[in-house]
Amino acid sequence: MSFRKDYITKPIHKWAKGVLPTLSETEAEAVSSGDVHFEAELFSGNPDWNKLRSVKAPTLTDAERAFIDGPCRAFCDMVDGWEIDKKTGDLPPEAWDFLRQKGFFGMIIPKEFGGLGFSAFAHSEVVRYIASHNVVAAVTVMVPNSLGPGELIHQFGTDEQKQTWLPRLADGSELPAFGLTSEDAGSDAGAMTDEGIVCKGEWNGEEVLGIRMNWAKRYITLAPVATVLGLAFQLRDPDGLLGDVKDIGITCALVPTDLPGVETGRRHLPSGTMFMNGPTTGKDVFIPLENIIGGPDYAGKGWMMLMSALAAGRGISLPSLSAAATAMAAHTTGAYSRIRKQFNLPIGLFGGVQEPMARIASSAYTIDAGRRLTTAVLDEGYKLAVISAIMKYHATDRMRDAINDAMDVHSGKAVIDGPLNYLQPIYRTIPVGITVEGANIVTRNLIIFGQGAIRAHPHMLDEIEALQEPDEEKSLDAFDKHFWAHVSHAIKTTFRATWSAWTGQGNAPADAGKVAPIYRRLSRWSAAYAVVADMAFLTLGGALKRKEMISARMGDALSEMFLISAVLKRWEDDGRNDDDLPLVHHAAETSFARIGEALDETIANMPAKWVGWLLRPLIRPGHYARGPSDEVTEAVAKIVYEPCEARTRLTSGLYRAAEDSGLGLLNHAYALVLEAEPLEKRLRDAKKTPREGLEAGILSDAEFQQLEEVAVAVQKVIAVDDYTPDELAELFPGMQRPTTWKEAAE
Ligand SMILES: Cc1cc2nc3c(=O)[nH]c(=O)nc-3n(C[C@H](O)[C@H](O)[C@H](O)COP(=O)(O)OP(=O)(O)OC[C@H]3O[C@@H](n4cnc5c(N)ncnc54)[C@H](O)[C@@H]3O)c2cc1C
Repeated sequence: MSFRKDYITKPIHKWAKGVLPTLSETEAEAVSSGDVHFEAELFSGNPDWNKLRSVKAPTLTDAERAFIDGPCRAFCDMVDGWEIDKKTGDLPPEAWDFLRQKGFFGMIIPKEFGGLGFSAFAHSEVVRYIASHNVVAAVTVMVPNSLGPGELIHQFGTDEQKQTWLPRLADGSELPAFGLTSEDAGSDAGAMTDEGIVCKGEWNGEEVLGIRMNWAKRYITLAPVATVLGLAFQLRDPDGLLGDVKDIGITCALVPTDLPGVETGRRHLPSGTMFMNGPTTGKDVFIPLENIIGGPDYAGKGWMMLMSALAAGRGISLPSLSAAATAMAAHTTGAYSRIRKQFNLPIGLFGGVQEPMARIASSAYTIDAGRRLTTAVLDEGYKLAVISAIMKYHATDRMRDAINDAMDVHSGKAVIDGPLNYLQPIYRTIPVGITVEGANIVTRNLIIFGQGAIRAHPHMLDEIEALQEPDEEKSLDAFDKHFWAHVSHAIKTTFRATWSAWTGQGNAPADAGKVAPIYRRLSRWSAAYAVVADMAFLTLGGALKRKEMISARMGDALSEMFLISAVLKRWEDDGRNDDDLPLVHHAAETSFARIGEALDETIANMPAKWVGWLLRPLIRPGHYARGPSDEVTEAVAKIVYEPCEARTRLTSGLYRAAEDSGLGLLNHAYALVLEAEPLEKRLRDAKKTPREGLEAGILSDAEFQQLEEVAVAVQKVIAVDDYTPDELAELFPGMQRPTTWKEAAE
């Protein structure tokens, strides 16, 4: 008999059963199928910086480096985005062959099965490199290496499946697609109606136990050309051939596309970006039970398998693509703002242009920092459920903002489509990144905090599990232990949050150097966050699941804290370069402002108004940063405007475009403009045009010639494409020649 347990915990236990969230089987599987890492430290209110700083900085092996410098570059050289999107609708056949021969489809397959066995970081670097040239090429390489048959067989396959399928996937003799999404079930994939019925059927001339499948999937990348589909479907066993359970649940199986009843080949046109994507249907397709990924033992475990595979893939594919797009935006916008003049000045010198330039650069720094940290932790063997969701959402969301900013700065140049336009192909693909691998709205509102809160909170999952324990006595014992640990944690955290909110003091590593104040402020917000999260659980309980706007804001604050941590880690890993400090400060100030706002709005929207009265004086959520100062913004804009080491670091590892491409012309003109800067200055000081300068002896003949060359190079960049009616008719076969008013009148 314990006084605390019987007289205090017992009534709380009864109350908590009514209010704390319960987990359905699917939710429990989702929650238990991934690991937490540094986000749990941030959630604790007192982050242990050693956990962050001890993550090994990601690096490439010699073989991985050589793969990027060799085959990746050669592959990109074969790809012309304009031809693909506007004319041929596909990668050239020799590019597909090259991908197969060089093992691009087996990057994540271990060497023992014929794959390249690359690290998560190397995989990400490859995707980033290719995506910096062309999205169709990147998606084609990305998808077989992301969530799909390769990953699922590698993680869950039987030995026989590994021996049979992995070498064939690695050498490209099989091309996989993964089909989860169906007509009715998009974000709510578990509601799919695609089904498989356990029955007997004929396979290789013999009668065997298997599954008769019917499905109608859509949006499936690579489906039109795939040789094997990894399909998720509801498995049922109405005749009890496998046991007593009739509705076995979501199951993943391998379905060769040449089986009778399988339909592939039709294509969707995703945002005018011509990677292979389309629907697939199956009518009474029979497969043996052995085709279930993992074998019959894994029947019904599909949801857990998908969640587990997503935990890695989601942290690599879209973040790498977004990192490429944002770094490209920084590179091109910086250069363009230098060569494009209005009002006699490069536009990059105007404060109004510097603001978006700085946002682009700081997002490029932040996304890449997040990508590096995430892949480094994946390479330590963690399956990052929450961090992967954070990265998927925030990398694609920031990429969208950065590309919009780049479009604004380029203006007409970016609007007019044509082979010279290096931004349009990226701009068109933004909605793809936002939608796939967990559409962004649902990821933000439901997944990041919804899953993160339960996984990353130091006590929440233990408490929920204790409450779900059917044995009442055991349930009370376990709850008593975890609940009081939670109370003690909450008291300590509240003191810490209040102290740091009023004194500005927080925990920072002793040797943090110039970024120590950022660590301290992050620590202050981490404590405030933990208090608000506990208050949300206390007052909303299970209803928090349905309060999506609150969940989204709490997810935003957690994500921004993770991103600042990644930025601090990157600065450290890069060797603490002073030149990068403006980027670090801009990134941190942006995130701090968002955290303050998110917590402020969370408190303001809690149904229990007393929460606000109580919390506001304690954690001072209104006392947040106002975002980057003008001085920091100018300094960051300068980093992308001028050649410097910080700029090189920010935009390194990207494909170097051909000289005659739109991007190649930009690079060339940028170099010439920089070289000619002293001449420009001489003319500016003398208030003369180049010709007047020549005549006045301010410029030599050679210097005048140099400026002429610069002007030609700049003209080529600011030029946009235009077409004769005949040329347009090539792009739009069947297009009518426009009738002029005069012709019409006749
Ligand atoms: C180009 C492309 C490639 C794709 N490739 C594949 C593939 O290879 N394999 C595959 O299986 N699938 C693939 N998909 C499908 C993709 O994963 C789905 O489109 C995605 O899951 C969203 O489903 P939906 O489009 O039906 O949107 P819906 O689920 O109808 O969602 C509509 C909107 O509602 C929001 N929403 C839904 N539920 C909630 C909620 N509870 N709370 C808040 N917001 C919510 C969503 O975020 C979204 O904004 C691809 C899609 C595209 C466009």
